[in-house]
Amino acid sequence: MKQTLKILVVDDNEVDRMAVRDALTKAGVQMELFEVSDGNDAFSALSTTAYDCVFFDYHLPDQHGLTFIQQLHSSKIKVPSVVLTAQGDEQIAVQLIKAGATDYLSKSKISPEMLVQVLRSAIRIYRAETQAALVNQQLRESHEQLLRKNQELERQQQQIQMQNFKLLEVSQLKSHFLATMSHELRTPMNAIIGFSQILFRSKFGQLSHQQADMVERILNNGKHLLMLVNEVLDFSKLEAGRLDLKAEIFDVSKVINLAVGEMRSLADAKNLSLLVQTDLQNTLVFNDPVRIKQILINLLSNAIKFTEHGEIWVEVKELSASQVTIVVRDTGIGIAPRDFKRIFEAFRQVDQTITRKYPGTGLGLAIIDSLVRMMGGKIFLESKLGIGSMFKIELPRQIRLFTEAADAPAIQLDGDEIYSSVKNPHHSSSQTR
Ligand code: ADP
Repeated sequence: MKQTLKILVVDDNEVDRMAVRDALTKAGVQMELFEVSDGNDAFSALSTTAYDCVFFDYHLPDQHGLTFIQQLHSSKIKVPSVVLTAQGDEQIAVQLIKAGATDYLSKSKISPEMLVQVLRSAIRIYRAETQAALVNQQLRESHEQLLRKNQELERQQQQIQMQNFKLLEVSQLKSHFLATMSHELRTPMNAIIGFSQILFRSKFGQLSHQQADMVERILNNGKHLLMLVNEVLDFSKLEAGRLDLKAEIFDVSKVINLAVGEMRSLADAKNLSLLVQTDLQNTLVFNDPVRIKQILINLLSNAIKFTEHGEIWVEVKELSASQVTIVVRDTGIGIAPRDFKRIFEAFRQVDQTITRKYPGTGLGLAIIDSLVRMMGGKIFLESKLGIGSMFKIELPRQIRLFTEAADAPAIQLDGDEIYSSVKNPHHSSSQTR
């Protein structure tokens, strides 16, 4: 103990105080020693000055040691304290330690060695206790902080859940609105298309050139509007999981030719050549022919819409006995790689402005994506700005319907046993959908 210690001795007996003083001096303790003779004086001294240790007699004239130590404790005065007991007071000393005293020493055992040993250990115990109390306090604080953070997180989680719930409700409302509106719009649209077709019939009289032109415009616009309405209806059904595939065995090349036939006039109107190449050993597939045609019409109408000069190719071939690929390639404006993923999202178009050159709902590719996923297929996209685009769709020759048992026997098509290859319908990379 090299530093000067401030020590307080509390005892009404002058001889006993001297014994402590002598013993500490003899032991060579570097100290400033203060002496008081009763509990009140000791309390005032400890309230105003920080001591390194206090030795106090258990039998003080104004109070006994237990009251003194309790008073220190309740006044939050912290100091290493050693009770000096008379012979036979050890039992009491134990009580005092429980109440907060650091150590005790029988007056009969006071010697320089003993006293310095008790002093050292009292200071050490006191420091260790203070340290432990500090660590405990820090632990309590960080525990409380964690509790508060946990509560905050729980509150935020509840808020997110509520918001999610509200979003879900709004989204369901939107889907319902889209489905109802598009369904309701279809009836008058069909009437407009139907009656304009009837007007062309000669039994209702010959139309003038101008009238025929107007009826043709009504018919074309009506058809276009119906196509848009159908897109919205399909999309809302797909979103709600209410669109089922109606699979049957059919000749895929026939459906391809039908779709190409329907789109040829549009390609001709833009002076684009539309070429079809079918290279199939087996033209039969098990799928939904209406949806296959829809996929091809969507891809072709995009190819025609986004191409000003050049050609559009449709290619159908077998990837293996169990897989068929349909490719639509154009020499159009192309798509930048950063847009590859985005354009498959609903209502997303490369040009999102209302003054955009190319019309459309932005639903075509989102619908294709959902349909191809349902069929267990994949979409690949390759494109270069200003050069053209290629959409490749790989489909299992035989799709597996959700209602089918997983181990349903693979059907026989044209003598070959064909297995459904619905393994990983989710796919996405910069080029693959
Ligand atoms: P829409 O054609 O109604 O805008 P789609 O979902 O079919 O909606 O296509 C989304 C967007 O992807 C298009 O707006 C266009 O920006 C881009 N895109 C699709 N096909 C092609 C293509 N063949 N060439 C260039 N861009 C295309």
